[in-house]
Amino acid sequence: MKKGYLLFLLLCLGVLFMTGCGEQTPTGGAAIEKKVVYTTFFPLYDFTKKIGGEKIEVVNMVPAGIEPHDWEPSPQLLGSLSEAEMLVSNGLGMEPWLDKVSGSLPASVVVVNASAGIEPLKGAKDHGHDQEKEKDDHAAEEEKHDEMPDPHVWLDPLLALQQARNIATALSSLDPDNATYYFNNLAAFQAEAEALDQAFREGLSGLARREIIVTHLAFAYLSRRYELEQVSISGLSPHIEPSPAQMKEIVAFGRKYDVRYVFDAPLSTSRLATVLAEEIGAQILVLNPLEGLTEQEISAGDDYFSVMRRNLEQLKIALRE
Ligand SMILES: [Zn+2]
Repeated sequence: MKKGYLLFLLLCLGVLFMTGCGEQTPTGGAAIEKKVVYTTFFPLYDFTKKIGGEKIEVVNMVPAGIEPHDWEPSPQLLGSLSEAEMLVSNGLGMEPWLDKVSGSLPASVVVVNASAGIEPLKGAKDHGHDQEKEKDDHAAEEEKHDEMPDPHVWLDPLLALQQARNIATALSSLDPDNATYYFNNLAAFQAEAEALDQAFREGLSGLARREIIVTHLAFAYLSRRYELEQVSISGLSPHIEPSPAQMKEIVAFGRKYDVRYVFDAPLSTSRLATVLAEEIGAQILVLNPLEGLTEQEISAGDDYFSVMRRNLEQLKIALRE
């Protein structure tokens, strides 16, 4: 009797569920539900949107205007993440919260490391001076950072392409029926990434200088690709500030190379950029590490490629004379 009642309840629920589905498809065909893929922060969101197109519903976890390094998801957001089919992460230490929660995520959420196969740079050469560090707490923290991988691979257009390729492969295994669609979108992405790479090569060739001072140590991959020399005021995470001795060395670097511009970052503006610029008589420009867009940039329709092209224009201003 009890069992019969339970079966009846289940049948009712089943009918309710089917009716629910039927309402979404008035034509009577099978419901086409998009796969839900979460991404941790902006570049991965943008790449996944471009590859997934109309077949995938992409949800970005870090909200607009928020710098992702120290961000952690709310319990509510983690709850909705556990209903996703896939999570695209950057890896390389960019999402420390993910290591903490990955054990408790349901096995149905496939976690993709978009940086798979990319050989990471270490966060060493932090301020271009490794010798004679003061053995204080700050130096200890920095040494710890020297050993950490640098997560900012997306700022090299050709490594961004590799991330997009990893995403296309992951989406194809999630949804094999649309694999051709994803790889066609990847081909379009590749054309745009290679055009961007070409624009950087041409735009930065033959300029007077190669040295850049930035507020956030995010441009090592970009600098390696286009033979720039990056010196940063803060560390791999923008809240790591330099010691007075390091600040002195940055000032010396700026004077030695007659650096005319200091690059600030939109989501982690640094008062030290202003201090430094005044000290060496430089002006402030913006180099965007693309860790998130502002509401204004989103409504202006900005994406990875438009912001990278703006970055190129800013670099050309800073390095031309
Ligand atoms: Zn960063």
